[in-house]
Amino acid sequence: MRQVRHFIDAEYVDSASGTTFDKVAPATGAVVAHVHEAGRDEVDRAVRSARRALGGEWGQLSLEQRCECLYRVAHGINARFDEFLAAECEDTGKPYSLARHIDIPRGAANFKIFADTVRTVASKSFEMATPDGAGALNYAVHVPKGVIAVVCPWNLPLLLMTWKVGPALACGNTVVVKPSEETPSTATLLGEVMNEAGVPPGVYNVVHGFGPDSAGAFLTEHPDVDAITFTGETGTGEAIMRAASTGVRDVSFELGGKNPGIVFADCDLDKAIEGTLRSVFANCGQVCLGTERVLVQRALFEEFVERLRAGAVDLKMGRPEDETTNLGPLVSETHRNKVRSYYELAVSEGATVVAGGGVPDMSDELSGGSWIEPTIWTGLPDDARVVTEEIFGPCCHVAPFDEEDEVIARANDTNYGLAAAIWTENVSRAHRVAGKMQAGITWVNSWFLRDLRTPFGGMKQSGIGREGGESSLEFYTETKNICIKL
Ligand code: NAD
Repeated sequence: MRQVRHFIDAEYVDSASGTTFDKVAPATGAVVAHVHEAGRDEVDRAVRSARRALGGEWGQLSLEQRCECLYRVAHGINARFDEFLAAECEDTGKPYSLARHIDIPRGAANFKIFADTVRTVASKSFEMATPDGAGALNYAVHVPKGVIAVVCPWNLPLLLMTWKVGPALACGNTVVVKPSEETPSTATLLGEVMNEAGVPPGVYNVVHGFGPDSAGAFLTEHPDVDAITFTGETGTGEAIMRAASTGVRDVSFELGGKNPGIVFADCDLDKAIEGTLRSVFANCGQVCLGTERVLVQRALFEEFVERLRAGAVDLKMGRPEDETTNLGPLVSETHRNKVRSYYELAVSEGATVVAGGGVPDMSDELSGGSWIEPTIWTGLPDDARVVTEEIFGPCCHVAPFDEEDEVIARANDTNYGLAAAIWTENVSRAHRVAGKMQAGITWVNSWFLRDLRTPFGGMKQSGIGREGGESSLEFYTETKNICIKL
């Protein structure tokens, strides 16, 4: 059986306790690896190794040398593209056709883009008058924050992990990564690439395990961690924030969402259908930015629902390797149980099931996997739990609306504020409505179009802080002011 080990100080190590847990492939339900579970000792070793590296060779590199290192990491991921692709798809069950275009290329790009960013960012300076007339000059310098804990989810494992590790390393920090227990493989494989790229020992460390009373908690509670960057559920964010309060450590959080898609009658319907199908069902609905609430202007409602239904039932579930597969399984049986409970709740709340609603009958090889049908509901009030709570599955509720002001209020009536999608050909309306969305990102006539230089994050309970481009540098560095009296 394949062993997934911790990566500490540039070496793969077993858990001292010998404790492992099973990694199950979601497409088949088969156990495919044994993952070593870190205790406090391994976490402590990883943090100490990261601390040492800050004061060692890594800390001595010039900015140019550090960036060269990161370009080699990006190149190394691309050079082993097929290995990363196979590992990511086995861990998540997601189709190769998706991960080939999104997960793996973005994993490499995250190192290149942030190396480019730190090389070009300017620092601010202020000249000031002094009573003696000589004046003074203030200027800002950015220094690494230190040891960064990176706690990751399972939905886009390599992409979201490198989205943090890329800028953290570009800014000169060192990291200890805790990948999701569901998806430990690509973070582990990245250790080999780090070594091949000549990244010094201790700069990139990986420890495996669960959240509470396991590696996640041990890492976020560790007193020698300087800052914590986390992507995952809002409730987990609350627990991590409590841990971070000891020692007053900084946090950056990318959390849950219950994102609206607003379809105006003046939209290009073909584009709105194609975009909404992607935003609801891509990655089996396990995208934080995905749409779970679709609001459609009444004149278009019936036609929209029918065309969305036709698109949903056309999705093809199958083996990840099969290039025609465009809908994978959910990440685990546990998550399928959660999503199924919402499918049952929708019916008991009075929904009309337009498509799906159950578990598909898969062939022998896939029958043990955590498959679920793409599902569309109508007929629920806005305060139904299915319409207000994040489900994180391939499903959405579609409701009609009449007026622009009404739909803005309904779209914003949520504790979350991560993303919104608006479909309209009226440019004034697009600006007006986008300006009023309470969301970290609003797409007009598109979805998941990401420029990595832009600020990314959530409003309300969807997050704290912004990352991306120069915003990442604000989190991953300390800014110091130096004041020189002339
Ligand atoms: P999760 O919060 O259950 O787990 C995320 C990570 O936190 C895992 O590594 C887990 O082991 C760890 N963890 C859990 N409890 C912990 C604790 N008490 N202390 C320390 N670590 C702990 O999230 P998930 O189920 O892996 O991911 C799905 C969630 O992530 C959804 O809510 C989704 O919206 C969100 N998400 C948000 C974004 C974003 O950019 N805003 C992106 C992707 C996913």
